[in-house]
Parts: sequence; C-alpha cells; structure tokens
Amino acid sequence: MMRYYLWTIGCQMNFADSRRAAEELAKLGFQETDHPQDADFILLNTCVVRQNAEDKVVGRLTSLQGLKRRNPELRLALMGCFVNEIPALERRYPWVDAFIQPSDVAAVVKLAQQISNLPRTRPTSRVRVLLPISTGVPISYGCDHLCTYCVVRLRRGPEISRPVEEIVTEVRDLVGRGVKEITLLGQNVNSYGRDLPPLFPPRLRGGGKEGPPDLADLLAAVHEINWLVRIRFLTSHPADMTGRLIETAARLPKVCEHIELPVQSGDDAVLRRMGRGYTVAQYRDLVARIREAMPGVGLATDVIVGFPGETEAQFGATYRLLEDLCFDMVHVAAYSPRPGTPAERLPDDVPPEEKERRRRAVDDLQERIVASINAQLLGQTLEVLVEERHRGKWRGRTRTNKLVFFDVDSQDWTGQLAQVRIIRTGPWSMQGEVLNPDVQS
Ligand code: SAM
Repeated sequence: MMRYYLWTIGCQMNFADSRRAAEELAKLGFQETDHPQDADFILLNTCVVRQNAEDKVVGRLTSLQGLKRRNPELRLALMGCFVNEIPALERRYPWVDAFIQPSDVAAVVKLAQQISNLPRTRPTSRVRVLLPISTGVPISYGCDHLCTYCVVRLRRGPEISRPVEEIVTEVRDLVGRGVKEITLLGQNVNSYGRDLPPLFPPRLRGGGKEGPPDLADLLAAVHEINWLVRIRFLTSHPADMTGRLIETAARLPKVCEHIELPVQSGDDAVLRRMGRGYTVAQYRDLVARIREAMPGVGLATDVIVGFPGETEAQFGATYRLLEDLCFDMVHVAAYSPRPGTPAERLPDDVPPEEKERRRRAVDDLQERIVASINAQLLGQTLEVLVEERHRGKWRGRTRTNKLVFFDVDSQDWTGQLAQVRIIRTGPWSMQGEVLNPDVQS
C-alpha cells in the first residue's frame, strides 16, 4: 500500500484541486498519511499570490530536502501557482521530482501511476475518500482580467471554462456520494462560458438568450440536480456581474444569498492603477442592486491596502466605503509586489509598518461591523446546513455563510438542515439552539 502526504495552501480552487487529486490517488490505491516521513509520495499544492504565501512554500520545500536525502525512494511533486519557468525551478530545487501546472490533476495521476508501477489500464480501486458535506467544484481555470498587482493570470493563464455537462456530471456524482452543498469555483466565475461553443438549444436557455452558456445557465443546470441542497459561487468580478446573473441567483431557491465581490480599493485613482475596470460609484450601485434582489444577502469582499502610491486620503476612502457598505466579511491583504506583474514596476512606496497599520485598521473596523450585523440576528431562527461535529458541538453555516454552533446529543446532524434559534452572537461565529430536533438522517 502506497502512502501519500498532501499539503495545500492558497485559494479555494487549490483546495478543490487537492480534493480531486486525493480522490484519484485513492482510486489508485494510495492511502493518505498526516506524516510526511511516512509517505512514499508527497504533493505540495502551492500559492504565490502574496510574498508570505511564497515564503511558506519555500520553507516547506526546504524542510523536505532532508527527508528526500534520507529516503531517495520518496517522490516529491509540487503543483500550483509556484510553478513557473520549470528549468529554473529544477536547478534551484533538485530534490523535487516533478513540477506540475496549477489544477493539472491528470499529471498527478500519471506520476502516481509511475510511482506505484501501475499500468495505465489497470482497473482502479473502489476506495474513495470521505467527502465533506460542502465542497468546491472548479468551473473555470485561469483568468482573463489583467489586474496589475495579480500574478494569477501569469501562472494560471487565460480563462478556460469547463463544459456545462462535465460540471453537472461531477456535481451529480458528488451529491450521489453525500455532498449537500456545492461551491462553483473560478478566479472570476462571472465570465464563465465566454469561451464555450453555444451548446444549449435556445429553447433550453433562460430568457431566450442565444450564444454560449453563462453562469446563470450553469446555475440553472446545477439547480436541477436532485438532493443537492445548496449552491454557492465565487469569486465574482464586479465588472462582469450581469443583471441576468443577479436575477437568476435571486430566483433559484438552492442558490444561497452569499456573494463574494472583491472591491480592492475605495478610491477611483487606485482602482484605475490596479486595472480593475470599474469605479467606486459603479461598485456601490452594484451592491445596491444585489441587496435589492437578495434581501439579507451575505456580502464578502477583498481589499488590498498599501498599493503603490496609495495616500492616506485614498486609504481613508477605502475605510469609509467599508464603513458605508457594511460587508459580512472583508479579506484584507497588505500589497506585496509580485514578479512579472505591471505593478511590480511601480515604486512600492508605502512602508511596511504603514501597510500593517492600514491592514489592522480595516480588520478592527470589520470586527466591529460584523459584530453589530450578527448581533441583529439574536433571537432569529436561521437555516443551518450542518457540516460536522467540532469540539463537542455541531457546526454548520447559514445560507449567508455565517458559522453557527449548536449543542444537542440526540442524533447525527451531519448533512442535515437544522432550524437554529440564535442565542449568542460574536464577530466570528454564533451559538444557537435547534428547533427541529426530530429530523432523521
Ligand atoms: N480573482 C479574484 C479577484 O477578482 O480579484 C481574487 C483572486 S486573488 C487570488 C485573491 C486576492 O488576493 C485578491 O482579491 C487580492 O485581494 C489579493 N491579492 C492578489 N494579489 C495581491 C498582491 N500582489 N498583494 C496583496 N494582495 C493580493
């Protein structure tokens, strides 16, 4: 029995790719281990979106060098956005056996077959990894936007959409194996399908629209899958969010009231230098339209502080935008120059301690905002999809992606929809008591 060790950092796409790789490795008869020293095969799925992610990958690679020296039979592969200019990587990290492009799960399979000396035609094992209640499914790879700070396009290439049928088949399989909630993943899911041929006969398309399928069509197709309970999608580029998508997401009952809409900055000049393709006024208008169509929607955003040339006043504009729009979640990052990006050529002139001050100011503001949003939910009854037991309590999420814990011993709640009355709230999670204790698994 071959054993593998899998380490993943970065975006949800990386975690979804790792889940798919783990599935394939299980089919080949590999067993997962939590200890790299016990593994025959180590796979690192990596991220370089910021310098600190890249530093973690290098740290991990360096720490594995000794293991490889002691055990030359060990096979070590690295996939994900760290992979760039492979000959240079091979020279710098000669103890790595293979560098695999982001999301190339087929290359992982090929390598695993070689490691275990399996002929390609050998029937695969029936062993399958235990699936979570909620999981991500990539719908597109790469990105067509040219945000000046972002390395993703350089590492993952232009956007390529997976065909609707392929995604539906994968989701159907996952649901058949117990998954209840699917998150459709892409760097920018809103431009899904632009590169696909017009597959659908027009009569199957909503609103009589012609042309290639879009995310609204995909949502409608996935929505048809029996026993699937919830659908989410992320990330949404604001410039590509259509009225048709908002209307479809609002109309389909399985689609959750949860939108991830990165704003990055609250200042038009900074947005222009970032190459984002929208203004603050357009973003505000979009948020208003989403909130009107989906009352109570959970809105999340990403913000970069300390972008080259960001003045105190420009940071202040971002801060005020966050105060005004009251997001449910803000992922804030201090800008770090990325090799090969246009912004790398701009002077990185906001000192590190000032970037950190701005980052903390956003975090503190957001903690106050979300504490107050959540406090308004006290006493309300919310639908919670239970994912697992965690430290003696049941843990799940609301449709708006808020974490809720509750305590009841009567039955296994995994995968059940619980009606939970909120009895305690905080910025990061809420506690509740279950009102439908008789639900059967
Ligand atoms: N594609 C999405 C979008 O519309 O921006 C998100 C993808 S990116 C992998 C995730 C987040 O990392 C971005 O939203 C941005 O806030 C942050 N990020 C990307 N490049 C960065 C950089 N050079 N420095 C700091 N943060 C960065």
